[in-house]
Amino acid sequence: MKDKKQFRSERLVLPDELMADKTQKVPENVPGKWYVDDTCTPCHVCLDEAPQLLKYNEDETKVYFFKQPEGAEEDDAAERAMAICPTGAIGKDGDE
Ligand code: SF4
Repeated sequence: MKDKKQFRSERLVLPDELMADKTQKVPENVPGKWYVDDTCTPCHVCLDEAPQLLKYNEDETKVYFFKQPEGAEEDDAAERAMAICPTGAIGKDGDE
């Protein structure tokens, strides 16, 4: 099994079309720099990394940030969720 560092380094070389798009945010995201966009499938894997930040929307068609990360531990959880997302649906370049 690949370790998380390896996932993260692979994430850095994803082509632009696999990077999250802040103009296509799932509407339920709370305001802030972290968001999920509409390319979420939803495959669930990010929920294992950051259950304190992410959850399904009402009809379980997408995942969204119900809370922005606060502190190093939650920042790390968000980074891990972003690194493991297979569709590149998680971004952190949203509004501050
Ligand atoms: S890992 Fe990505 S595609 Fe899967 S549920 Fe989370 S945001 Fe959606």
